Amino acid sequence: MGLKDTDKFATKAIHAGAHIDIHGSVIEPISLSTTFKQSSPAAPLGEYEYSRSQNPNRKNLEDAIASLENGKYGLAFSSGSATTAVILQSLPQGSHAVSIGDVYGGTHRYFTKVANAHGVETSFTNDLIKDLPNLVKDNTKLVWIESPTNPTLKVTDIALVVDIVKKINKEILVVVDNTFLSPYLSNPLNFGVDIVVHSATKYINGHSDVVLGVLATNDKAIYERLQFLQNAIGAIPSPFDSWLTHRGLKTLHLRVRQAALSATKIAEFLAQDDRVIAVNYPGLDSHPNRDVVKKQHRDGLGGGMISFRIKGGADAAAKFTTSTRLFTLAESLGGIESLLEVPAVMTHGGIPKEQREASGVFDDLIRLSIGIEDSDDLLDDVKKALAASSQ
Ligand SMILES: *Cc1c(COP(=O)(O)O)cnc(C)c1O
Repeated sequence: MGLKDTDKFATKAIHAGAHIDIHGSVIEPISLSTTFKQSSPAAPLGEYEYSRSQNPNRKNLEDAIASLENGKYGLAFSSGSATTAVILQSLPQGSHAVSIGDVYGGTHRYFTKVANAHGVETSFTNDLIKDLPNLVKDNTKLVWIESPTNPTLKVTDIALVVDIVKKINKEILVVVDNTFLSPYLSNPLNFGVDIVVHSATKYINGHSDVVLGVLATNDKAIYERLQFLQNAIGAIPSPFDSWLTHRGLKTLHLRVRQAALSATKIAEFLAQDDRVIAVNYPGLDSHPNRDVVKKQHRDGLGGGMISFRIKGGADAAAKFTTSTRLFTLAESLGGIESLLEVPAVMTHGGIPKEQREASGVFDDLIRLSIGIEDSDDLLDDVKKALAASSQ
């Protein structure tokens, strides 16, 4: 399949990595073989030798991810967390990293409780742009960005961070966790970052039935180093999970656009309602980083995640989240079905109250992951739950 550089996202989503095999199968078969025949010692018949090192389904997925992120190289791992682990494992002993404070809980845990075991120390800040010049040290090797943050959806100007970091030391790697937007809404490699990562468990697979992680880069040396670790550590996805994720990403653009359109309607409704204290949604003109959203996200779309504070405290939040008909009370996000949760007692329950409230995670904050059900039905569900929780 000869894709052209000018092919648009939807064309790449359908065709990148989607090869037709020798039988003419339009959809690649699932290749379960762990080993591949060699024609003479150390001369494999084709590209593959042993399935941990590389597998046809994983390769197809990696090619598709690279294409969608405008990168030259893609790699897939057994989870988003394994992807993070491999990147941090690639840092030399005694390195320093700087990370955005509101980072995904598992990433924070890896920085503070695992990477430190091989001497990697991390500084956290909620304002990279202001604090980076003071935080970068001689041994700083990596800057970690998540945008929008979870669950308060603050947006960081990625190009500006890259500019600040590379002026100090162009060897420092800038990594963006792009899980919340997906490659359809934003391509951080376009803004000069070195590595973009995703928990493909969320939007990329999109059907809440695979745990998997991916990364993309344009830098051959970074790719070779991380590919070496992918094989050496062995945290690889199965052929079936690779195949399912590849199938899922073919509809990414349709799903994410629909979720963002519904999310905009729901956020606009919540923003004007008296029973709501505040709404965090990057698609609203009232969002504090709306100017950055407009230049960083496709069509200025806000994505499928919303959080809002409900009047009536934790009780009202609990009532709301148990009064919906279509939204399911569950952790995770980015699937076809709408989910909701209370971060203070669920995804962010492990963070001390003071620290969590400092970044806006109050007991009355509700997080919505908008799925691809009908927009009006979802809005109606939100309206009824709001009525039920404010009685
Ligand atoms: C879920 C998530 C991760 C971790 O991914 P897993 O696939 O669950 O290991 C990392 N970053 C973000 C932003 C996430 O939402």
